[in-house]
Amino acid sequence: ARAARLYRPGEDPLAVLEAGTVRRALLNASAAWVVQFYSSSCGHCIGFAPTWRALAGDVRDWEPAIRIGVLDCGEEDNYETCKEYGIYYYPTFRYFKAFTKQFTTGENYKAGSDRELQTVRQMMIDFLQNHSQDSRPPACPPLDPVPSHDIATLFDKNNHHYTAIVFESNSSYVGREVILDLIQYENIVVKRALNSDKAFLEKLGITSIPSCYLIYPNGSHGLINILKPLRSFFSSYLKSLPGVRRKLLSQLPIPIKQNKEESTEIKQWKEFDKSKLYMADLESGLHYLLRVELATHKMLEGAELKTFKDFVTVIAKLFPGRQPVVKLLETLQEWLVSLPLDKIPYDAILDLVNNKMRISGIFLTNHVQWVGCQGSRPELRGYTCSLWKLFHTLTVQAAVRPKALINTGFEDNPQVVLQMMRRYIQHFFGCKACAQHFEEMAKESMDSVKTLDKAVLWLWEKHNVVNNRLAGDLSEDPKFPKVQWPTPDLCPACHEEIKGLHSWNEAQVLQFLKHHYNNENILYKYIE
Ligand code: FAD
Repeated sequence: ARAARLYRPGEDPLAVLEAGTVRRALLNASAAWVVQFYSSSCGHCIGFAPTWRALAGDVRDWEPAIRIGVLDCGEEDNYETCKEYGIYYYPTFRYFKAFTKQFTTGENYKAGSDRELQTVRQMMIDFLQNHSQDSRPPACPPLDPVPSHDIATLFDKNNHHYTAIVFESNSSYVGREVILDLIQYENIVVKRALNSDKAFLEKLGITSIPSCYLIYPNGSHGLINILKPLRSFFSSYLKSLPGVRRKLLSQLPIPIKQNKEESTEIKQWKEFDKSKLYMADLESGLHYLLRVELATHKMLEGAELKTFKDFVTVIAKLFPGRQPVVKLLETLQEWLVSLPLDKIPYDAILDLVNNKMRISGIFLTNHVQWVGCQGSRPELRGYTCSLWKLFHTLTVQAAVRPKALINTGFEDNPQVVLQMMRRYIQHFFGCKACAQHFEEMAKESMDSVKTLDKAVLWLWEKHNVVNNRLAGDLSEDPKFPKVQWPTPDLCPACHEEIKGLHSWNEAQVLQFLKHHYNNENILYKYIE
């Protein structure tokens, strides 16, 4: 299994949850939680990690009220758990209330597409504010504004501590952010008030909002003078007041113990030849697809079931694999056809793939072994690389062995593999944003594909569009930069210049692809 290294326990200011810890952490917790269920092989999750880390750092002081967690659904040990939480796409954000008495899958709290740090932070505040009063995290002070008729009473008492009042507009979050920033500090209470009572504001000398008015422990009071009316300026000013101190650490919730040592195993680099295709990558990809990606779906029905059946039908005919693997796909296909059900629990499929097949000696590797898809770090490349390779292989197989599809109902369809890939990606691919991009490309031009050869070229061209878009992205493996492929060293004849401009020789590209993704180019090295 791959180690969850996109986030590092102990180093990143968030809780790295795992199958063995997540339920315990979320159940009956004294703080609410926001958990990002991600997959270490999803490019968007990799790209989003710095934002999520920055958010966790930014709201670190809010921990007693609301905590940030992550769980890697791409890690095989966690995939049962992700299924239990009903996670289909990555990243998925779920909010969990404090003091839940029973297992819950959390709330997709206002899951918008905007995942800017500030938006997520504000959503966390909304969540806390809407949290039912009786089970509200005890560390979370009231976040509603003090009614204007009550403000005066704050001045009355001799409290022996500081009281800061942030005056602000109704839509501002600054007051609530400052309140939460200070929850771990003693000798100070932060409140917020709206700017509705203009006469009162005038009396206090407040001319602009947000402003922070401070009542000292001795009863004196005045506006605080800071350079900019920003959350960070208010919070750091208040934290540095004489007598204001961070509460003792023992009052914080006990950090979650990792029940498992983080796997520090560094896999040995496997030498490989990039002009070859490795069966280890294709089989590992199939293993991941069948046992991890699809297994997040509890029940297959309707369009999903149809997609899965068609996928298995096509792959059983076209996968250029070892006999036991092809046999497994064929048996699975026959079994699916023989079932007149309109719903199949995925566990039944898994049972067939895992147990029944093993008994009859028909099996598929049950761990990943990336070779041509190795990444220089564990979270890079891997599954998505193998999925591309798998579909390229299938388009080429369909083009060089069109007879293989006879009697499947797909024999006369030049787009057979592309349509199946499109539906697979749409229904099952964990990276939702990738699926959207792919769907846009498919909508635009897949219909124009009229031959099996053109299907090979269509997928090649679109993969290069994706490569171009992702060049320089955080998900790019520095050891394997995104390039327009095949590069001149792999296929010199594919490249030409016309009037000084680079141009592809498509006939040569087709010939190259039909060789690269065909049986004679497959190596079985590193397969046990
Ligand atoms: P990959 O791009 O995965 O390529 C794997 C191998 O295929 C290469 O090593 C090479 O041998 C071969 N190859 C490369 N180009 C071509 C080509 N044009 N034709 C034929 N073979 C080729 N990630 C995102 O961050 N954002 C996205 O929107 C996104 N969309 C995706 C859509 C799909 C359908 C898939 C399958 C993946 C998507 N990904 C996306 C993942 C991303 O494309 C890569 O798979 C991932 O970044 C790993 O890259 P890699 O270096 O292993 O090379």
